[in-house]
Amino acid sequence: MNRSTFLRAASAAVATAASVALLAACGGEDSADEGKDKGKAAAGSAEPRAAAGSASPAAAGGFTVTHVGGPTTILEIAGARLLLDPTFDQPKKYKSGLEKTQAPAFGPDRLGKIDAVLLSHDQHDDNLDDSGRKLLKDVPVVLSTPGAHKRLGDHVTGMKSWQTEELKTSRGTLVVTAVPALHGPDGVDRGADGEVTGFVLSGEGVPTTYISGDNASVKVAGQVGDRVEKEIGPIDTAVLFAGAARTPAILDNAPLTLTSRNAALVAKDLDPRRVVAVHTDSWNIYSEDMKSLKKAFQDQGIADKLVALEPDGTPRKLS
Ligand SMILES: [Zn+2]
Repeated sequence: MNRSTFLRAASAAVATAASVALLAACGGEDSADEGKDKGKAAAGSAEPRAAAGSASPAAAGGFTVTHVGGPTTILEIAGARLLLDPTFDQPKKYKSGLEKTQAPAFGPDRLGKIDAVLLSHDQHDDNLDDSGRKLLKDVPVVLSTPGAHKRLGDHVTGMKSWQTEELKTSRGTLVVTAVPALHGPDGVDRGADGEVTGFVLSGEGVPTTYISGDNASVKVAGQVGDRVEKEIGPIDTAVLFAGAARTPAILDNAPLTLTSRNAALVAKDLDPRRVVAVHTDSWNIYSEDMKSLKKAFQDQGIADKLVALEPDGTPRKLS
């Protein structure tokens, strides 16, 4: 399938409710700094559109990333402000046995306007904690798995792999494609507990971006990369959930997300211009940190690809 056929197919498959909701609520040009300055502005609240020619990174066609902690990251891309896997609780222990060990860079009160949440899955606290769960209703569009739709309700769009949604932004259309993710070692089926989706962002003027979600498999990421390359184009940026999450309760401590070495192998295989690594801090089940990730990228000779963001809530404009 060539690119234009793919995009037409994408349009045909769209649930327009999501597009309309985003268009209605999208101010589209806020920078994260402006978002912070708004103080208690509720997530998802409608803001007036910025004038054309705004000097914000998003308006200039840029890409700004803000790491809040764990998997939680804000992407400002192509006029949209997207939130990945919301977690905003203070350190605490959960019934699941998971423990949050570090506070988020800031609370939901300083989040500012969010156009859409891309939620890789809802069933694990480190990808959606109590505060994150609470803010979903304030965001106009929430994209996730079919299981999340069943558990969280109609406000959440459940996407099957390779299904697409179009988000209308102030600058055009952002296509979100759900892509496979394997929440454990190759060949293992964890059933409903392992149901996760990754995402690919694309469209005119949109740097093609792969968001892995909780995926541990180099093979699955490679298959996603091959299909994206063929049907959409080369991946510009990969956001990889690393940290090698492990727990004795599941598969005898097998890594449930990418190890540092496997994240570097995915980066080598997909060959994006840059890799933003998250999901290595703030939770007790992450067994590998940013330091080991840096070393793994060095070992593979691709240290220059790694954007190693501290979870400090500082907006970073990517070049
Ligand atoms: Zn998970």
